[in-house]
Amino acid sequence: MWSNNVVSFAAKYGLSRRQALQLQCTAEHLIPRSMGGTASSVNIVAACAFCNHKRHARLTAPEPEAYKQFVQQRIRRGRWLPASLPGTLRPCNLA
Ligand SMILES: [Zn+2]
Repeated sequence: MWSNNVVSFAAKYGLSRRQALQLQCTAEHLIPRSMGGTASSVNIVAACAFCNHKRHARLTAPEPEAYKQFVQQRIRRGRWLPASLPGTLRPCNLA
């Protein structure tokens, strides 16, 4: 993940800007703000934009542990990160 310079991150890993934007570090609220989650340190973890957006793209965001298990299962099957990203990249710590 990157947080400050998408251009250097993209160059370092041979990604397009569009690909690199999916790996921007975001603050993932374990309990979404829409459900009363706060901005406290116990409610926020680092997650790449891809994982963060995927979780909240659902009508109801899955519980963190359930989502973690889902992502880990997809990773084991080689079906998590977008196919457009190089296979050598690893998902973020959320997984
Ligand atoms: Zn991620």
